[in-house]
Amino acid sequence: MRTPLIAGNWKMNGSAEKIRAFGEAFAGARLPGTLEVVVMPPFPYLAEAQRAFAGTPLAAGAQTLNPEPAGAHTGEVSASMLAEFGVTHVLVGHSERRQQGETDEQVYRQACAALDADLVPVLCVGETLEQRNAGATREVILRQVAAVLEPLEPARRERLVIAYEPVWAIGTGLTATPDEAQAAMGAIRGWLEALNSDLAAGLRLLYGGSMKAGNAAELLARPDIDGGLIGGASLQVDEFFAICQSAG
Ligand code: PEP
Repeated sequence: MRTPLIAGNWKMNGSAEKIRAFGEAFAGARLPGTLEVVVMPPFPYLAEAQRAFAGTPLAAGAQTLNPEPAGAHTGEVSASMLAEFGVTHVLVGHSERRQQGETDEQVYRQACAALDADLVPVLCVGETLEQRNAGATREVILRQVAAVLEPLEPARRERLVIAYEPVWAIGTGLTATPDEAQAAMGAIRGWLEALNSDLAAGLRLLYGGSMKAGNAAELLARPDIDGGLIGGASLQVDEFFAICQSAG
């Protein structure tokens, strides 16, 4: 059985007050079974998240990291800095960053740095609308998965989470249908199966792209969808809580 995971990517949104409101709303919350819930605010709010989420089911995550341990990298944050502020999960390869030039090679190095610091890298993969229309969805997402998974030592692969996020569905209100999401995520599971069947059985796959309370249950019911990466809908505590309730 794979533990479901719901992660909220706040992007460049939120405030210290919103962090506290989430901590209060989730304190003592009854969530389904062993569900894991991660909120990923901007870097400056991680210290507040560490305080506000203590004693709640919420964990704090980050949206990216620099793979270098330290040095002259103005504006960047390392894996060990994230770990120092109680971060447990970190996104690598989000499409909004790939669009700004982040390469598969950089994403691989970020994943390695995260693993070295005992963080769970959430590897984001997904095709653009152009690539989907050209029939290249499978090729694109499997290339992005392989670029990180293949060079990793086998024992480290199982600590990753993969988020399938069709680029055309992120922040657009367009959601992949459950059939479309399952087809892409089934392809990822199939690729993992060819690598190692235990890895395929245990590795969690999240769907991301305009997931909300109204469509979460239908998506999460599909066999290869083990959770969600939520952007816009993770900013409203009631909506995010309702999505978590669907993940039982
Ligand atoms: C995201 O940014 O990862 C995302 C899924 O955003 P949204 O839910 O707003 O589409």
